[in-house]
Amino acid sequence: MSKKVLSVLLATAMTASLLVGCGASAAAPAADAAAPAATEEAAPAEEAAPAEEAAPAADEATAGKKVGVAMPTKDLQRWNQDGANMEEQLKAAGYEVDLQYASNDVQTQVSQIENMINGGCNVLVIASIDGESLGTVLETAKAAGIPVIAYDRLIMGTDAVSYYATFDNYMVGTKQGQYIIDTLDLNNAAGPFTMEITAGDPGDNNAKFFYNGAMDLLKPFIDEGKIVVKSGQVDFEQVATASWATENAQSRMENILSSNYADGTNLDIALCSNDSTALGVENALAANYKGNYPIITGQDCDVANVKNMIDGKQSMSIFKDTRTLAAQVVKMVGQILKGETVEVNDTETYDNGKGVVPSYLCEPVFADINNYKELLIDSGYYTEADLQ
Ligand code: BGC
Repeated sequence: MSKKVLSVLLATAMTASLLVGCGASAAAPAADAAAPAATEEAAPAEEAAPAEEAAPAADEATAGKKVGVAMPTKDLQRWNQDGANMEEQLKAAGYEVDLQYASNDVQTQVSQIENMINGGCNVLVIASIDGESLGTVLETAKAAGIPVIAYDRLIMGTDAVSYYATFDNYMVGTKQGQYIIDTLDLNNAAGPFTMEITAGDPGDNNAKFFYNGAMDLLKPFIDEGKIVVKSGQVDFEQVATASWATENAQSRMENILSSNYADGTNLDIALCSNDSTALGVENALAANYKGNYPIITGQDCDVANVKNMIDGKQSMSIFKDTRTLAAQVVKMVGQILKGETVEVNDTETYDNGKGVVPSYLCEPVFADINNYKELLIDSGYYTEADLQ
């Protein structure tokens, strides 16, 4: 429990440092100033169209409009950053923002979205908890003519989602798999190497993309016997982690270690889809494992995991710069409200069961002990002090 408190504190400190770093104080007056102008001039803004006046007309079309931002939970650092970045950048662009976190509770998220609809939001940006559970509430949004952008996680089974913005989730997995292949020189090394797999929440459409990206590269080595999964748990359903919870990943790995590695067998690879699950695996290893330390993958570059990376307890993480994703989504919100063509770069990959949702995929990169300073500190994502 104290870990949870600590992570909330870290997240709060992080958010504060990001706000300072990104100039939130300058953003606030801009938003305040923009709002009254939009209210007064709402009607002319709708009519204005001459090409040479596109920019000012566009500002009037967006300023003071309200954007609902629904985030899944404050428990994981990344969503605090996503929410803070979205709020800051939307306000800087002149929007009113209704930002809500749902404690990973689907019903809470549904109510929050209902409130956003009733509260007059003009666009909804939603990072879902369970991609399958928002169909009904989004019907209401659609009936009210409110466009929806799925943020980071695709919302499934509804035609009420207009766009999807995320990082290339399959590429996250291939980067983790490739890191393992390169680090162990799997194409040349004799092996065999032992591996255990920890994937994400089955209710999150991303989880399978991460798993598939990594497994498409690693499965051939399992098939030829160069990688041995001693627990025998390879299928997604067997290795999934409910709610992406550290505790769930930890207890599963404790069982695996006591059943398969207590005799002194080394675990060479722990493929973990993200940092919260990697943390669970790292805790289990600290408590129950005496062999050589394995390669451990992760995703998000959470503070706790970057610290572990510096301490040699996690090999790599995938860096998804949430500032970039937020900037892209703010741009898409503006394009939607101005009636412009919305920038997407993928119209094939993400079918939510009702059709392919036009998507913008940002590119993830891998971070390890050799490049984390450049990626995370020099870019202003973290300060040196955050990582001490
Ligand atoms: C996100 C990951 C995150 C995970 C758990 C996924 O949908 O893409 O970045 O680690 O959820 O919150």
